[in-house]
Amino acid sequence: MARPKNGITAAERFWANVEKSEDCWNWTAGSRFRGSDKKPIKPSRFSYVLHNGPIDSGFHVARTCGSPKCVRPDHLRLEATAVNNTVGEMDRLSTYQIEYIRKRYNPREADDFAEEFGLSHEQLYSIVREV
Ligand SMILES: [Zn+2]
Repeated sequence: MARPKNGITAAERFWANVEKSEDCWNWTAGSRFRGSDKKPIKPSRFSYVLHNGPIDSGFHVARTCGSPKCVRPDHLRLEATAVNNTVGEMDRLSTYQIEYIRKRYNPREADDFAEEFGLSHEQLYSIVREV
């Protein structure tokens, strides 16, 4: 990773917000971290990519420990994102979740939304468009 002008890498900024215990390493800042390209990313995803490299599309980062704040690399693993037809997904999501997606959706965070709700981009898009 190239060293930026201020001398602090994204990885160093990242670890400054992590509280390590003997078990989980918990993320202590907001729900999004701005990585080296300044794009908001889930802390767990940043940690995974930092240690394992890029994530193929169709996968999201899951935690084996179940702790919602954990970013410890060996507690993270990839899970295939379920791809079902949109009607099935609409049934799976609660009305509240669908409203949340429609209100909060931002195209720049499409990856995060798709990951959070286990949707493909096509499914996400059809929900946002209220199809
Ligand atoms: Zn953990």
